[in-house]
Order: sequence, then C-alpha cells, then structure tokens
Amino acid sequence: MMLDGVFKTAGNEDGGTLPPLDMMSLLKALFPLPRSLTGDGVRATLQALKQHIPLDIREVATGTQVFDWDVPREWNIRGATIKSRDGRVLVDFASNNLHVVGYSVPVSGSFTREELGAHIHTLPDQPDAIPYRTSYYAENWGFCLPHSLWATMQDEAYEVEIDSELADGSLTYGEFFIPGETELEILISVHVCHPSLANDNLSGIVVATALARHFLAQPKRRFGIRFLFLPATIGAITWLAENEDRLDRIAHGLVLTCIGDDGPFHYKKTVNGAVVDLAAEHVLRHSGHAFETLEFSPYGYDERQYGSPGIALPVGCLMRAIHGTFPQYHTSLDNCDFVTPEALGQSFRLLVDLIDLLQQNATYRRVDGRGEPQLGRRGLYRAIAGQKEAGGASQMDLLWVLNQCDGSRSLLDIAERAKAPFSRIRKAADLCLNAELITEVRP
Ligand code: ZN
Repeated sequence: MMLDGVFKTAGNEDGGTLPPLDMMSLLKALFPLPRSLTGDGVRATLQALKQHIPLDIREVATGTQVFDWDVPREWNIRGATIKSRDGRVLVDFASNNLHVVGYSVPVSGSFTREELGAHIHTLPDQPDAIPYRTSYYAENWGFCLPHSLWATMQDEAYEVEIDSELADGSLTYGEFFIPGETELEILISVHVCHPSLANDNLSGIVVATALARHFLAQPKRRFGIRFLFLPATIGAITWLAENEDRLDRIAHGLVLTCIGDDGPFHYKKTVNGAVVDLAAEHVLRHSGHAFETLEFSPYGYDERQYGSPGIALPVGCLMRAIHGTFPQYHTSLDNCDFVTPEALGQSFRLLVDLIDLLQQNATYRRVDGRGEPQLGRRGLYRAIAGQKEAGGASQMDLLWVLNQCDGSRSLLDIAERAKAPFSRIRKAADLCLNAELITEVRP
C-alpha cells in the first residue's frame, strides 16, 4: 500500500487511527467545483480527496477504446455569460456552474431571443430552479436558467459567450485500494461527474472518502476494499475494460449515490442476486431505519455497468432518495441544504456495519460430529452469562450456530434464520471457535 506523508503514521500497519472526516465540510468545499465527465473540475475534486485519503489519480487518453466506447474528448470551461446588448450580465457561470449545459462547445456572439431560446433549458413547473443538463455525445451548446428569469428576458437580442474548450486530453478517475488477507475484494464505486449537485454525487463521494479513511485505520481483514471515484458510465466502462482480467476478485460491491438526504434508504439488488443483497437487507432491517429493497433494472447508476452482460459482478446500489423521483433531482435545489450531516452520518455507519458484516461472514461446520454438544463442560454457559450485559450472544444464538453450522450455511444465513442481528451470531460463533466446536469451511 502506498501511503504518503500525513497517512503514514495512521496506516493499519501501525495500528493508528485517523480522526473522522467532517463529511459536511468536505461536501461544501467540493460543491462549487465545475465537475463534468472529464476536465479540471474532476481533477480538482480528486485532488481535494487526496488531502484525506492517499488516492491514485489516473488519466486515460482521449480516443482509448474501452469495450464498445471511446474515451471522449476532454471538456474545460473558464466562464460563460448571457448579457443584454447594453452590457448587463443576466446569466453568469461564475455564480452557478449549472448555468451551462455540460460539454457545451465555445460560442461568442449576438443572438436574437428566438435563436437563443433554442439553447435555453428551464423548468416551467419549478420556475426558480436551474436544471442540470449535459450534451456529452452530441456537439451542442446551451444555458440552463430559472424559468422565472427567462420569462423576464424579453429583449430582441443578447450577447452570448461560452469560453470552453473541447479537445483531446484525458478522462480522469480516482482509485484507492486497501489490501486484505486474500486477493478477494469489496468494491465501492461513486460517480464524480456532476457539478454543483450535493446529494447526487457529492454525498456518495464524501461517504466513500470517510469509509476509506475509516477502513484505512483498521487492521487487515479478509477482503481488500477498492474505492473508485469515476465519471458515470464511461468511467466505470473504462475501469472495467482496464481491469477485465482481474474482475473475478470482486466478491462484493456497492455503488453509493444520493445517500445524504434524510429520506428512507433504498437498496437496489445485484443483477443475478448475491450475498451483498442478503447482507444489505439484513443490516438495513436491524438498523432501525426505514428502507425498501428494489429489484435490479438496467437503468440508474453504474450498478448497470457492473451488472452488464459478460461482466455481471455482484454489485448492488445503496441510495436514499431515488434518482428521477424527487423534486430536487438534477436541479439547483439539490444543494448543500438538501443534505444533512445526520443523514450522511447514518449512511456512513450503516455502510461500516454492512462492510464489517461482509468481512466477518463465514461458513463453518461442526468439528465434533453429531448431536448437540455438552456446553457446560466447555464453559460456554459461563461465557454466555458474561456477555449478557454487553449485548453479546445469547444461549439461543449459540444453539442456532451449533445446530446450523453444517458447512453449507454462512453465519449470515444463520442470523437470518434465527432472526438475530449478525453481530450476535458472529459472537456466538467466536465462542464456538474458541471451544473448538466448529471449524471454517473455505469455498
Ligand atoms: Zn445524476
């Protein structure tokens, strides 16, 4: 593991801890950066994350073929305005980076209101909100503004300027890997291509960064954890194409998106069903938070790339608000007020529990043959009594483990059947392991 400077003393080899990340402050700092599919806004975002985790920032050249796609040209923008003929600035990219359609080609000149109108996007039903629009794969330009503002713009002509550049360059993404005891990995993936949108992209980015920091300071566990910070769709396709020969190492995966609002959780299942689906549902059910599980569909975020034909990785998606269904979605209303520190904290803790569960889940079989073992002789009743106050395993948990550990059922399967939280079944299994009543079965 490459750890530079600030992270070195806190790395897991030294058993140190990192102070928790202030997710809300990071979110606010990242909010104004002009992210897009490519360009300096993404780089600045990843550089900011590098202050908190030793992220590798990777560049993939324009034109690189990735499966059925090519890495697009890089887009950068310095500024954009719409002015009245007498020089009053009416719309300014500097005040909100949603004002310009992502990937707009440069433009400079006078346009009649009618000509300009063909390039204006507004939301008549939400007249004070600025919509978020992109035109990645069709060369175009445009402005997004509150419908109420456009209604007041009744001059015959306007001066329009977009100071942007669409040129050969590269696609930028961030990757950070915490090694495990085995070659198998847990994948955590978030998108980084939305500009000033807080819940849609920034919430996932800051929670993933906080998770990386948390697990960086933990002792080594069974699975490595890989964090990906990618532009949506093309970023995930690029990473998959670059890593095609090692995708079988991904044992479990999660896409994180829209996890900063205070609504109920939604977990979208993997394409073919996987342990992570069962684990996510288990952790959500025992968390006390309202939640719903959703079946897989080939739409949404990068879970659809990870679940695409020939790839079909066990990657689910955790969200709170569901894309496309909440009024703030893809508008200037998805701002820093829509995200709360409490919701970010809940999402973080839920994911720590989920990842811990995936790390600690295992399958055992009884060592001592048939029948129920005599627990008193092995001091297990005493051990259970000692755990009672600390929320440890109960006698029932112990009996479930000893009854169900036949080499085919995992501890998670047993916890589900016993309707007990995984952590208690895990503790019961540890007691049985210490008493040499069970032994691990590795697939
Ligand atoms: Zn989005």
